[in-house]
Parts: sequence; C-alpha cells; structure tokens
Amino acid sequence: MIDRRDVLKLALGSAAALTSPALAQTAVKPRTRIVFLGTKGGPRVTTGASNPANLVMVNDTPYVIDCGMGVSRQLVAAGVPIPSVKYIFISHHHSDHNLEYGNLFYNAWAAGLSTPIHSFGPRGVEAMTNAYWELNRFDVETRIEDEGRPDPRKLLIARDIDEDGMVLQTSDVKVTAFRTPHPPITDNFAYKFETPDGVIVFSSDTAYNPKLAEFANGADVLVHECLYLPAVDRLVIKTKNGATLKKHLLESHTTTEDVGRIAAAAGVKVLVLSHFVPGDDPLVTDDNWTEGVKKNFSGRIVVAKDLMQLALPV
Ligand SMILES: [Zn+2]
Ligand SMILES: [Zn+2]
Repeated sequence: MIDRRDVLKLALGSAAALTSPALAQTAVKPRTRIVFLGTKGGPRVTTGASNPANLVMVNDTPYVIDCGMGVSRQLVAAGVPIPSVKYIFISHHHSDHNLEYGNLFYNAWAAGLSTPIHSFGPRGVEAMTNAYWELNRFDVETRIEDEGRPDPRKLLIARDIDEDGMVLQTSDVKVTAFRTPHPPITDNFAYKFETPDGVIVFSSDTAYNPKLAEFANGADVLVHECLYLPAVDRLVIKTKNGATLKKHLLESHTTTEDVGRIAAAAGVKVLVLSHFVPGDDPLVTDDNWTEGVKKNFSGRIVVAKDLMQLALPV
C-alpha cells in the first residue's frame, strides 16, 4: 500500500519530479513548482506548442511570467483557475511575451476576479494597461452597469521596472529583475524567484550574456531560451523577410552551445530549455536541442514541453 509519505516521495523524488498534467492532479501537489505553459518562441500561432508563458506556483499562489498568445487557455489546461492569479511579470515588449497581457487580466475578471493582480515589466506596462482600458471601455462599462461586476480598472495594478533589483517580496518569494540585452531591445529583464524550495531564474529572450551566469549563480533551476542554428536556415527559406529575420535571430538569441556555457558558469542544478527558436520545426528533435548544450554543460537538462511541471526542491 502506498501511504501519503510515499506519494510525496513519488511526487517530489530525489531528483526533480516531472509530471504530466493528469498525474499532477492525482498526486500530492508540491509546495513549489514550475509549469511551462508555452514553450514555442516567436509570435506565430500554430497547432503545436503555445507561445511563451511560464508559471511559478508557491503555496497555491500563481505567478505568471510572460503572456504570449494562449496563456489563458494554458492556465486553464494546467488546472489553475485564472482568477487565482496574483502576479504577472512581463520580460520585454515583444508581442510573443505581452500580446495576451490585457486579455489574461480580462479573462480573470470575466471568471469572477475580486482581488487585485499586480503586474510588473519594463517601461510600457503602465501605458499598455491604460491603453487596454481605452480599447475595451465599451465592454467593461457595459458589464459593470449591466451585470453588476466590480470595476476591473481598480484591480490591475501595473508597475514599470526601470532598473535592476528587487521588484516583489512576499512571505513566499522574493523576485529580482536583471536587465539583459536582446537587440535591439534593451528594456528586457530576466527574473529570479527565490522560493522556500529553491531559486529559479528565467533568462527572458537574450543574446549570449555571460553576466546572466553571474545573476543565476548557484540557482537550482535556470530556464533559458535557446536557438538551434541548423534549423534557422530552414526557417529562413520559408520566410519572406528571411535575411533580416536571420540577422535578428542570431544577434538577439543564444545558441544551444552558449546556453550550455551559461549553465556551466552559473553552476545550476537543472537547466530547462524553453522558448525554442525555431519552435515549430518538426525535424528538430529533443536530442538536437541538447547536443550543443552538452558540449559545455554536464548537469541535468530538461527539454520543456507545454504543460510539463517541474517540482522543487530539485
Ligand atoms: Zn520571444
Ligand atoms: Zn523577444
């Protein structure tokens, strides 16, 4: 017979536990976990992986990192009620990271939100929030009047981040922002979550940046974006603006080899690859994603999939 302690062991394991959404609902939930909501880099919507978004859960409080298209649906699919979201972090203002920002909040309100959501991101989050209310003024004011809903404009509290440093501290987590280059974007932040069960760092989209290894030094989990060079040329052939796109991709993202260098320099316990570029090339296998990384990093590597969960401690 399996008792509760054994179930916990199964759920947590000596190494990080990776679970399917179905299993996660039956096993005892760990206090701290990451859910990879959308793993495909870039704004194009496909029938494959969803656009970029991640979730950290600590003591049942959801922290959403990035709001690519599909984030609301993916939260529902992960079994997380949208109105339970308390904090949203935007890494930068590429649309694959912010397109569903306003709509995620709206979807929480539509599902009965009654408590505030705090949002953080580079300069522009406050303006985007105000513009969202302009865009949706008719619907919102109609529903307040007609359906007796609370005014959502008072429930979304946005804050622009201007510089590196701590952006949030609660009884559960401390969140720190760190600027990293993603040419031509400079207002772009990696985030570090210090939780009771370990430290998690999200790289954001980033050019190869050795300073990021210092920011992630000793982290339990580093979730890093990645670029697979051999597939970029195939992507470029399919695309009208191919030459310009290739230049952008090479200058603003990190190759798998360089991701390995960052993970090794930081000495992280687990490296998670996500935000795959290209993210919808069926010819690229999990081994393709890890082979370059392994040249420079000998630790544990996870190739993220949509709705995969990683329990902490790892
Ligand atoms: Zn992106
Ligand atoms: Zn980007």
